[in-house]
Amino acid sequence: MWVRVLGSAAGGGFPQWNCACPPCRAVRDGSRPARPRTQSSIAVSPDRRRWFLLNASPDVHVQIESFPALHPADGSRGVPLETVLLTDAELDSTLGLLLLREGGGLVVHATEATREVLYDGTGLLRTLEAYCPVTWRPVLPGADVPLADGLTYRAFDVPTTKRARFGAGEAKGRVVGFRLTDERSGRALVHLPAVQDLTAVRDQLEDCSCLLVDGTCWSDDELIRLGLAGRTAREMGHLPIHGPGGSLEQLAALRIDRMVYIHMNNTNPILLENSPERRAVEQHGLEVAVDGMEIEV
Ligand SMILES: [Zn+2]
Repeated sequence: MWVRVLGSAAGGGFPQWNCACPPCRAVRDGSRPARPRTQSSIAVSPDRRRWFLLNASPDVHVQIESFPALHPADGSRGVPLETVLLTDAELDSTLGLLLLREGGGLVVHATEATREVLYDGTGLLRTLEAYCPVTWRPVLPGADVPLADGLTYRAFDVPTTKRARFGAGEAKGRVVGFRLTDERSGRALVHLPAVQDLTAVRDQLEDCSCLLVDGTCWSDDELIRLGLAGRTAREMGHLPIHGPGGSLEQLAALRIDRMVYIHMNNTNPILLENSPERRAVEQHGLEVAVDGMEIEV
């Protein structure tokens, strides 16, 4: 299967429009090597013809334009993209659905908890339905679901204590990860852009060939130290990379061909290509996703 990183930054993108933290300043003024990034989303394909979107970011238009495989064929208005798998109901993961309203309709795979927020919380799916047909496919963690041509997925629950902004905050199914398997090769990709506790999902990572994993913050108190927020990374549902129990030391112990951090917040120093934090990540055998990155799994 093929994976295309459409966007690799957390909500707000890199740089973020209202932010002048050190990495945002550096990417704007070019004083340090760094590349701008759009908000996190990937496309996966079994054959490089049909593509499946994992999350629909607010940057979905520019992401489609930047990837010719997703362009409409001559004289048509159809793109090889009609199915979206959602890991959660966050605006960063779902706002792009509204921007796809001109199409012939969308198939949205989401848990009941996510569907509920998208109908009764943000109302986003309700709005979208006024423009185009929406088919909801319930995501049931643990169930194998065929997508196309030997490509299947299995979702798994990702426990989180992040406070829910909408709805009752039912914990189960609020955040899921996806394990996509190419049945022809037996190789699997795990997409896990939000995870607060890796030990809780470790079984799901066994034997996968490629892991795209939450790289939101370098340190737990990153946003507090910069005076940008009052909450730690963990309180926002993201395990930090660095420090005791951080993701870097845990991931470095796993035997996975390729491990790639994705969903980096703009404050994260690993975005600066000459930072010691970036070097530490690479020395542990991990990579940092960038928009346009392609991986054959
Ligand atoms: Zn910033």
